Amino acid sequence: MTKDVLLRLSAEAAADTKAVQELAARKAKVPREEVTGMHILRRSVDARRFPPVIDMSVRLFTGDTAEELFETTKFPFVGDKKQVIVVGAGPAGLFASLRLIEKGLKPILLERGVNVHQRKKDIAALSTQRKVNAESNYSFGEGGAGAFSDGKLYTRATKRGNVLNILSLLCQHGASPDILYDAHPHLGTDKLPQIIEQIRNTILTSGGQVHFSTKVVSFLKDEGTLRGVVTEKGETFEGPVILATGHSARDVYEYLQQEKITIEAKSLAIGVRLEHPQQLIDKIQYKNDKGRGEFLPAAEYSFVTQVDGRGVYSFCMCPGGFVIPAMTGEGQLVVNGMSSSSRKGQFANSGMVVELHPQDLPQEQFGGNLGMMHFQQALEERCFKAGGGTLRAPAQRMADFVNHRLSQDLPPTSYGPGLTNADLHRVLPSFISERLATAFSVFGRKAHSFLTNDATLIAGETRTSSPVRILRDKETNMHIGLAGLFPCGEGAGYAGGIVSAALDGVNCADSVVEFIGC
Ligand SMILES: Cc1cc2nc3c(=O)[nH]c(=O)nc-3n(C[C@H](O)[C@H](O)[C@H](O)COP(=O)(O)OP(=O)(O)OC[C@H]3O[C@@H](n4cnc5c(N)ncnc54)[C@H](O)[C@@H]3O)c2cc1C
Repeated sequence: MTKDVLLRLSAEAAADTKAVQELAARKAKVPREEVTGMHILRRSVDARRFPPVIDMSVRLFTGDTAEELFETTKFPFVGDKKQVIVVGAGPAGLFASLRLIEKGLKPILLERGVNVHQRKKDIAALSTQRKVNAESNYSFGEGGAGAFSDGKLYTRATKRGNVLNILSLLCQHGASPDILYDAHPHLGTDKLPQIIEQIRNTILTSGGQVHFSTKVVSFLKDEGTLRGVVTEKGETFEGPVILATGHSARDVYEYLQQEKITIEAKSLAIGVRLEHPQQLIDKIQYKNDKGRGEFLPAAEYSFVTQVDGRGVYSFCMCPGGFVIPAMTGEGQLVVNGMSSSSRKGQFANSGMVVELHPQDLPQEQFGGNLGMMHFQQALEERCFKAGGGTLRAPAQRMADFVNHRLSQDLPPTSYGPGLTNADLHRVLPSFISERLATAFSVFGRKAHSFLTNDATLIAGETRTSSPVRILRDKETNMHIGLAGLFPCGEGAGYAGGIVSAALDGVNCADSVVEFIGC
């Protein structure tokens, strides 16, 4: 027999699984000794109450009725099957590869960067030696842009595919089952590399191939059909191509433009990273001057408003996280955020960004298909110079920014390369900075103490999604002008975030299966 029970618990009670099971049994009127197992189905924090409560839905099992926590996918051997080229080993490319194997095709996964463990060293050098490796950084390398991140897995893209399947595949490759039931699941930068490595092992043991340090530089084409790709070293790989190169591969967009393969400029959100002491966010969100205590998770926030016809919102919030240098080349300054699985760092950060449409930009300078990308690039160079020409980032205290006052000094930060005191109204274009200032006043009224000089704005948050869309057919997911090309994931403009990119990878793999006709 199974019985589902809803529970509302204190944070302390919810942390004790044995006690939860006993409570659930009592509520379900099932004798404790008859319960043979329990699965948590849903868990969320309700911070609107004081003290906050944990809402839980659990399933009790009696006798031999226990179910598996998640469905396991079987991967057949495909070493001798038809091959499909997958360019980019981010979530889109990795999950496309898994799906191809499941469907009986052999993925040849080509990745410009190195494996996820070697990549760690290049990432460390960013903060310690302030050296950017253009092929191995926070965006490029095995695992893609999400490999060193907070690993948030919450998505609104539920209509684009089977989210539970993606989460189950992550669990099958070593993720904690918490992600199956937490309302806002996340993995953490300390757990992601092992999961990515296990996915690679599945691809290899199933007969697929993974090639690192293999940058695709051009296409093999035959009258409107793509036959394969050519790498920087001059190797060729033949087969239909899933192009999942992410939002930072500017050379790929330039190549597509040069080859007249249809692309268009896309809307993008740009702004700053905002960093608060986590304790302050805990106090605000849990309405408790003592903070979150021992059992509640580091508090999150989410803000959105409209200023002069454009959305301004918080993005990719990292409780207990770090601000990180996310540039992919010399002369650029790009920030982003990540957290460990425990989210126990002393700072909270989020992107605070303004939505921009291609027509918002001065057209003589930033018109055309690559206009938004050129604007993004120019702003990154401007931030680099404002930071002092190193990886130090230009920064300003939050209330000073709103009041157009230069900060006298800057508070401590998690950003490794360090900060340079700057007037961000002079660094960011006024159509971004003025909207941000207005929005911060609105957010400060919504959450008392949020607008404070204890928080720092760090510029610039420019890589929130792709500045370009590679146009594809809605039904077949194939490029509208080049048969055999399947633009995929965030870089193609059809996903934003780990789970939605993974879902797009699965969908593109299914489209390739139909294209090949097997
Ligand atoms: C620091 C950081 C934190 C983030 N945190 C989160 C989060 O918590 N939750 C979330 O949902 N999202 C997060 N994101 C966003 C998320 O990582 C992306 O949305 C997601 O990774 C996009 O997946 P993708 O596979 O489409 O592209 P990517 O992950 O960008 O992967 C593209 C891959 O293609 C490779 N590549 C590029 N060009 C070539 C070429 N020419 N030849 C061969 N290979 C190539 C790149 O090296 C890269 O590995 C974060 C991003 C960053 C940078």
